[in-house]
Amino acid sequence: MAQNHSFDDAVTRFRSILEEQNQRVDRISKAAEWLDYSKLDKLVIGVIGGDGIGPIIAKETKRVMEALLREETSSGKVEIREIEGLTIENRVKQLKPLPDEVLAEIKKCHVLLKGPTTTPEEGSGMPNIESANIAIRKAFDLFANVRPVRIPSEGIDWVFFRENTEGEYVLGSKGMMATPDMAVDFKVITRPGARRIIRMAFDHAKKTGRSRVTVVTKANVIKTTDGLFLETAKEVAKGYPDIKWDGWYIDVFTAKLIDEKRRRDFQVVVLPNLYGDIVTDEAAELQGGVGTAGSANIGARFGMFEAIHGSAPRMISEGRGEYADPLSLMRAAAMLLEHVGLSAKSAKLSKALDVCGVYEQKVKITGRPDGATAAQFGDYVISVLKDAGLEAKWKSHQN
Ligand code: NAD
Repeated sequence: MAQNHSFDDAVTRFRSILEEQNQRVDRISKAAEWLDYSKLDKLVIGVIGGDGIGPIIAKETKRVMEALLREETSSGKVEIREIEGLTIENRVKQLKPLPDEVLAEIKKCHVLLKGPTTTPEEGSGMPNIESANIAIRKAFDLFANVRPVRIPSEGIDWVFFRENTEGEYVLGSKGMMATPDMAVDFKVITRPGARRIIRMAFDHAKKTGRSRVTVVTKANVIKTTDGLFLETAKEVAKGYPDIKWDGWYIDVFTAKLIDEKRRRDFQVVVLPNLYGDIVTDEAAELQGGVGTAGSANIGARFGMFEAIHGSAPRMISEGRGEYADPLSLMRAAAMLLEHVGLSAKSAKLSKALDVCGVYEQKVKITGRPDGATAAQFGDYVISVLKDAGLEAKWKSHQN
């Protein structure tokens, strides 16, 4: 058995982690004022391509946004600005998940549309740098990861609120080998961190006329951290007497998402970070694959909108990059427009994406050469956006 003295280093590092997290609790507790996008003279939307299939799907999404926002960009109310340098090559060269000059450019924008970025893993031959996403979430305290999943034909209309800054991920790169044979990682849930995401889920339910919020944990086993999340949900729920809430354990909830009789009852779901990450991929798969789902990372003063999936390096190495589905990032663009208050444009884009990606599918993406390219899909969406009959076409598919 290892001698206790070999724990000394681990104990010292644990203490510094606790101190750091305690400072974070203080920062969260001093809630920042929310940015009012309607008061901006000019809204700057940053666009980052990222890695792998990222630049391919970002190019098409940018084209669609430019077509949709032609009036706003020509009058100077909106600028769509491309940001370079958030590539795996540059990040590895600088040994930084988020190079300083890229961060400086992002800070000049009010919201960001971001293609997926590669995160090197152990044994990949690349340095073990942190995920660019996690670095951006931390830099802007983007605590809420909002992921809608809709399958109209099955009556499914879910919105997931995944906590984005805590859980197992907040200290994901700070685990330690306490002895050569013992690996330890950490999970952190804080009361103000849980409260702000749970409140956001309840506020969303209230605002959108939904009647139910489901809180998912494993509080029966992970008693302290998940226990605090559930306890906080009970407190928050008292402020929303018109909304029903229920608590589920992650294992049975994951099973019920594929139970056709039960799953359409879920509406708004709020979960800690890791569970949210896994369950939302499962939910997106039910909707038609990760290539169809967008996701928002929201903080009080900034928002980053992206696809739910990664950079799909296999698609690139197999020469299938141009067949990647850009619908995921286009859905994220619709979420971005809603977030900044361009609601009519957001609704128009969502309807065009429903027509192109769900109802009509005249141009079909399969991810392979037997299907359409991302560019062909981009052209299709732009032509549907320009079609004066879009609204009627979309309505004809309701019910
Ligand atoms: P992935 O999501 O990149 O790809 C898995 C598979 O899903 C692909 O091989 C492909 O078959 C399919 N796919 C994904 N997006 C698609 C699209 N738009 N169209 C068609 N098919 C699509 O998962 P991975 O291989 O586990 O991750 C690759 C890299 O991406 C890793 O470095 C990972 O860290 C990173 N990643 C980044 C983000 C992000 O930036 N938000 C999210 C997840 C993963």
